[in-house]
Amino acid sequence: MYSRETESLSEREQQTRLRAAAFFVIGLPIIGYGVGTGIAEYSPALMILGTLSALAVTIGAFMLWQKRGGYRAIRPGIACHTALTLYLVTFSGTEHARSLWFLTVPLTSIMLLPPREGTAWSVGAIAIACALMFQAGSLEGAQAYSSVFIVRYTILALMTTGVLCWSEVLLERYQIQLQNQNNALKAERDHLEKEIVQRAALEEELRYLATTDSLTGLLNRRAFMAALAGELTRSHRLNSPLTVLMIDIDHFKQINDSLGHPAGDAVLVHLSNLLQEQLRSIDKLGRIGGEEFAIMLVDTPPDAAEIVVGRLLDAIRTRPAEHPESHRPIPFTASIGCTQRHPDDDELTSLSRADRALYAAKQDGRNRSHWI
Ligand code: GH3
Ligand code: MG
Ligand code: MG
Repeated sequence: MYSRETESLSEREQQTRLRAAAFFVIGLPIIGYGVGTGIAEYSPALMILGTLSALAVTIGAFMLWQKRGGYRAIRPGIACHTALTLYLVTFSGTEHARSLWFLTVPLTSIMLLPPREGTAWSVGAIAIACALMFQAGSLEGAQAYSSVFIVRYTILALMTTGVLCWSEVLLERYQIQLQNQNNALKAERDHLEKEIVQRAALEEELRYLATTDSLTGLLNRRAFMAALAGELTRSHRLNSPLTVLMIDIDHFKQINDSLGHPAGDAVLVHLSNLLQEQLRSIDKLGRIGGEEFAIMLVDTPPDAAEIVVGRLLDAIRTRPAEHPESHRPIPFTASIGCTQRHPDDDELTSLSRADRALYAAKQDGRNRSHWI
């Protein structure tokens, strides 16, 4: 709550700055009048007060322009201006015409200072003006005021003060209310933004979990099938070659049975890293079953695919996995079923053909590839 009010006051200070600029523009001619009259009438007091006011208002306006000082920059200007007008109230000239300048005091003090301080300042100045009016008759060079004039003048000045104070207090309340609403809206917006970010992260995580195999980090079966469907559409349209491979570890059950399930997992991770290493980044690799992997070789005709398959089999044979505890090597082999895209293929037909080729490779003695 405190910070909200402080924020709203800083907004008020900005507004005060604008008003102070207006005070500078409007106030200087009034002060100029004071100085001019002082010179014309050889009145040193008027000249001094006018010059001091001019200096204080100019310095104050300059400080505000530089965004320094705040209310402190305004107070000396208002004090000098008040002193000048009180002098004009005392030495009010023919028909007390000069005393009217004093009515600018409520205006400047309430509009430029914080409303309550400005009101106190204005009421104090009116009390002094009132006292000076009563004393004017006994001062040399001053015109005596009638009681009726003093009473009407005082009522007018107090009414002006009251109305200005009331409108400024209302304005201040309205500004605080507006600021509170703005802060509440901002807090709500921040909250929504945070929620959007959290949801996006959650969606990303869900998408990752739905498409990724948790053990190897490869595409899972569903994601691989979706990628294969997309790639088949593309390669049908461009009439480009596409090779689909299916890889299955030979006698994997024996590895699990003799070395334990964690060792089997280590072989799966090792094989997935090894395959990824051997493939280009545009080729797609997925784990589509327990120890079965599928590969799409994009834009690859059979002769080029044959070379890749030979390289994969060699790498598998020559680079054994490592036992997670004993760090002993775990040699293993794999069989690969290979097939080319057919013109009427979809993802299911092409993969089932690769699966048949894999079965044939197993039948042929494993640790080899077979093409259908
Ligand atoms: P083949 O040469 O004919 O492929 O024989 P195989 O033993 O590899 O084939 P089989 O289908 O009989 O065995 C596959 C084994 O893979 C059975 C299953 O326990 C194991 N397996 C499946 N998923 C995982 C897994 O995530 N981790 C481990 N460690 N083993 C798995
Ligand atoms: Mg197997
Ligand atoms: Mg299998």
